[in-house]
This record gives sequence, structure tokens and C-alpha cells, in this order.
Amino acid sequence: MANQGPVIWWIRRDLRLRDNPALAQAIALAKGAGVIPVYILDPLDMAMGAAPQLRLGLGLGKFAETLKACGSKLVLRRGSALAVLKEICTEVGAQAVVWSRAYDPDAIARDSEVKAALKDLGIEAKSTGGRVLFEPWTVATGAGGMFKVYTPFWKAVRECDPGGVLAAPSALPRPGQWPATLELEELGLGRAMNRGADIVAAHCHVGEDAAQARLDQFLERAVIAYKTDRDAPAVQGCSGLSENLAWGEISPHRIWHAGMAVWHTGMAQAGAETFLKELCWREFAYHLMYHSPQILTRNWRPQWDAFPWEAEPNPQVLTWQQGRTGYTLVDAAMRELYVTGRMHNRARMVVASFLCKHLMIHWKLGMRWFEDCLVDWDPAANAMGWQWVAGSGPDAAPFFRIFNPDTQAQTHDPQRAYRDLWLAEGKRAPSPQALSFFDAVPRHWALRPDMGPALPVVDLKVGRARALEAHAALKSQS
Ligand code: FAD
Repeated sequence: MANQGPVIWWIRRDLRLRDNPALAQAIALAKGAGVIPVYILDPLDMAMGAAPQLRLGLGLGKFAETLKACGSKLVLRRGSALAVLKEICTEVGAQAVVWSRAYDPDAIARDSEVKAALKDLGIEAKSTGGRVLFEPWTVATGAGGMFKVYTPFWKAVRECDPGGVLAAPSALPRPGQWPATLELEELGLGRAMNRGADIVAAHCHVGEDAAQARLDQFLERAVIAYKTDRDAPAVQGCSGLSENLAWGEISPHRIWHAGMAVWHTGMAQAGAETFLKELCWREFAYHLMYHSPQILTRNWRPQWDAFPWEAEPNPQVLTWQQGRTGYTLVDAAMRELYVTGRMHNRARMVVASFLCKHLMIHWKLGMRWFEDCLVDWDPAANAMGWQWVAGSGPDAAPFFRIFNPDTQAQTHDPQRAYRDLWLAEGKRAPSPQALSFFDAVPRHWALRPDMGPALPVVDLKVGRARALEAHAALKSQS
């Protein structure tokens, strides 16, 4: 096809104008012929959990406004990505389709098929970076293999240049003809939330401007004490940017360069370094997922296949999901997750350890619950987080490191501020946040704030001893 038609910018998890290589590529290829931003709700996105879908819908709504403000339009479609792209290409005579790469195996398979099929039709198909700082295949050990341990990975990437930050275009060239579009409501992205969608939505910080504001605020203040405050769930000591990174409302490059600038001023060196290291845990997760995609579905260490997890279904899973385990830090964290779609990192480690170790419930069940509830759901970080805590993953926490939820509470929430914020039972005047949990839960859970504190589902000593015994048996077999 000759270079006269518009270019389709196939938007996925990259809802931004600033520093978006796919968009820059689309504009360059279009040579003034017009760029058509298209989002397709395809089977992979339809399979996402309820909260990620809800958050995607909020992000698309906001991004549609952004595009409108610069003279463009967000085209929404549903169906198989390839079929829809072919349809639109025919409809408008597009010459090329451009998108930002994804790295999970299902997306890679889909994108490879799309690329090959479009090329067969004479349509240019281009994928770009933008989701991660370093393409996973560009970082390798001295022997040329993948990194399996974080610290050497960090040492390898910290000196690398991830490339600069691209400015947002002032306007997007309009095509001569717009293809048909669905209304956002027709995608039904909030439908899977059979619970308090509005409650969760009120806690979200949606869009590029919100993401940039979060970054600016964090680097102005919180970064100074980040090294210590990042472990205190009651303190706003972290950036909160995972929600925006998950939907591509900010690029990791922008965060990296802003963090580096603070690091080099020497004002908040320790905080900035720790922050950049955390950002690189995200990179590490993508590196692992790309090179060993089985991390999403199976024990990364196959010797874990013989671990005697509790049989399913197990009623204790529900007590954990509902925040009724009887351990206040675990319960507060599970409430925070349900109400806000987010959970503090320290709390994620504690609730995951409690489920996998004290209750000996398979990490996959926890991973799936997070996938259903997190507005910052990220396949790579979620799988790595769960397998890290369980002990079955690369560079994982040693199995004998079993977080005691009570000790963790004393260390990381000594004034009970976090637990008081999220727990209502047994309180004379619960906080509005704690009460909002009861508005958010499905009716069939039959939970009420006046039902009294939950009794412990397991004795901590007994649970710990049982888990250690099972692990010792596993080790003796391998
Ligand atoms: P900050 O402390 O401000 O850190 C800055 C950025 O670094 C984060 O936004 C995030 O992109 C990255 N980061 C920080 N810690 C980690 C980490 N441990 N692993 C990977 N990246 C990290 N993160 C997700 O984004 N999505 C998930 O689905 C997810 N699931 C998790 C499940 C478990 C069991 C665990 C233990 C962790 C999980 N994490 C996940 C990682 C981490 O908890 C969140 O990234 C962090 O809480 C986000 O808060 P923040 O943006 O304020 O982070």
C-alpha cells in the first residue's frame, strides 16, 4: 500500500501523550496523513480481573478527554485485535499500525500474529518500546543469560542509559475520515465489579496529569525519608505510581530521569537511590517474565511442584479475602485492598506470607485474588511478588522467613494508625474508610461493622511449625 493513508495507533497499556514512542512513531509514519488512536477490548483484556477492568475504563475515559483536547479522538472497539485492526484498515485505508510492546506470553503471541497478518496485507506493522526502561533481551549476564538474582541485575542496569524522554505532541494529525467507534459504556468495563465500583473509583488517581503530580509531590518531599517511611503503611511514604505505571499513564523513563536528577543533587541521595532500585524491581519482574514466562502460571522452581498445599476449596481463603483472619495487620491490609484497589507493599508481603505459609494455601489463589482486586495489577510484578513471598520464585525469600503478622504490626504500625484506619469491628467510632468496606462488599458476604472482631483462623506457632515441616520434607525429597 502506498504511503498516503492514515496510521493506526493501537493503544494498549500506554494511555499517555508524553514520552510515548509508539505515538511518536505513528506521527512520523503518518507524514501528516492522520493518526487514529484505537483501543480494542480483545479477549486478553476481557480476561482481566474486575478492578483492573474498572481502572482501565477510568483511564480510557480520561484519555479520551486528553485526545479530544488536542483535536483527536479515541476510537473504541471490541473483538479479536487482528480482526478489528483489519476491519479498520480497510475502512479508512490505513497504511500502518503502530503499538507499544507488551511482554507477557499471550500478548506476544497475539502481537506476532497481528504483525505477520498485517504485513501479508501490505500494511506496515511496527512495535516500539516504552513500557519498560530496558528491553528484556538487552540486559544479560556476563555469560549472556538472563538474570535470576536481583542485585546483579540492578548493578547491570543502574549504569545503563535507558534513553531520553520524548515531549508530548502539541496536536495529533487528524485523518480525513474517522472509523466507527463504540461508546465507552458499551465496553462494559465496570461490569465485572459486582461490588463497590464507585468506592474503588473514588480512590483512583487517573490520567497523565495525576501521575505527574504524584511524581512531583513524591520527589519534592517523601523521597527524603523514603528509605524508612516506605515500610510504614500508615505513612504516605511511597509514590503511589504503580497505579499509573500499570496503565502507562506515565513512562518509567520519566520517573527514572526525575529520580536520577534528585539522586545527583545529593539532597535525598539515599531515598532517591532506594526509589530507583524499587523501580528496577519492576524491570526485573519484566525481565523474568520475558525470559521465563512460566513464572505466571507455574512454580518457577519445579521442585516446588511437590509442596503439599492445602486442598481446595478451603474456607480459610474467604476469611483472608474478607479480612477476617483475626490478625489485625492482615485484616486491615485486605480491607485496604478491597476498598482502594491498592495495598501497601509491606502489607502485600505480610498478607501473602500469611496465606502461603501460616495457612499453606497455594500462592496462585492469592495471586488471582490480587489480580481481581488491584487497580495497579501488573502480571509481571504480581507473579514475581507472589512467588517471591511463597519461596517458589527466583531470588525468593527463604522459606524459613515467615512473617509473623503480629510482630510485623508492632514494627511497622506501632501506633495502630493503619489498622485503626481500616478496621471497624470492635470500635466505638470506626473511620469512614473502615466503614466503606461494608458498603463495598457483596451482600452475600453478610458482613457488618458491629459483628465483633474475628477470631484467629490459625495459631501462629502451629501454622509456622506446620509450614516449616512441610518445607523440610520438600527439601529432603529434592
Ligand atoms: P513505590 O515504593 O513508590 O515504588 C516505585 C515503583 O517501583 C512502583 O510504582 C513500582 O512500579 C515499583 N516497585 C516497587 N516495589 C516493587 C516490587 N516489590 N516489585 C515490583 N515493582 C516494584 N506491583 C504492581 O505494580 N502490580 C502488582 O500487581 C503487584 N503485585 C504484588 C504482589 C505481591 C504479593 C507483592 C509482595 C508485591 C506486588 N507488587 C505489585 C509490588 C509492590 O507492592 C507495588 O509495586 C508497590 O506497592 C507500589 O506502590 P508505589 O507505587 O507507592 O511504590
